[in-house]
Amino acid sequence: MEALNHPSSEDLSSYALQALDPNEAQSVAEHLLTCQECRQQLKAYSAVADGLLFAVPPKTPPAQLRSSLEARIAAGRPVAAPPRRGFRFSIFQAALGAAVVVLLAVTAYLAYQVNDLKQQQQALLQLLQQNQTSLALISQLGVSVIPLQTNQVAGNIVISPDGQNGVLFVHGLSPLDPNHTYQVWLIPASGSPQSAGVFQVPQNQSTSYLSIRSPVPIQDFSNIGITVEPSGGSQAPTTEPILLDNI
Ligand SMILES: [Zn+2]
Repeated sequence: MEALNHPSSEDLSSYALQALDPNEAQSVAEHLLTCQECRQQLKAYSAVADGLLFAVPPKTPPAQLRSSLEARIAAGRPVAAPPRRGFRFSIFQAALGAAVVVLLAVTAYLAYQVNDLKQQQQALLQLLQQNQTSLALISQLGVSVIPLQTNQVAGNIVISPDGQNGVLFVHGLSPLDPNHTYQVWLIPASGSPQSAGVFQVPQNQSTSYLSIRSPVPIQDFSNIGITVEPSGGSQAPTTEPILLDNI
């Protein structure tokens, strides 16, 4: 029976402000033992109340609140219905208002997280579809696909039957600032790396593509690498590769 009889939000916020008389506080405390819902609500009010008590000169407002409530209890008026005016209840209203703001913020945060998860799911779905497209290309056109994998980056390169055209898919790279670009290198067994082009990773997109054309079959190179270079690209790699794998 106790658990069904929730204290009003005014009582709970008064309890958080320690502004209830001892009997009222006792019955709220007893209810709290049996009701998780009210405990959670109290937590939000307490966080706000702590902020309020720090924000106002200590002692005075709670003491005024308490005496006001005691006067009203003595007068036999219900505690749960707060008067509409006066400084004492502006604290109440601020507490309730702030609690609502806190709850709204938490709700918005949760909604944001759900949305973020949806976007991640979308990106994964997209990646899956791309992989399926790659597989379809292999079976229909006799192209080959070479998986690439390092610690931070995964991808594959799809190569045409003549070996001179390829599409590089890379997953897991972060967007760069506007002054930098990713650059792809085809690295022969002996000799210097050859640029295969530059690409950017757009915001909110975790998979990137680069079309690669090569005068000699791509499979004739021994490695493929990706470095971060100044925008426009470099003649030769100037940073440690973030992806380096056999092809
Ligand atoms: Zn309750």
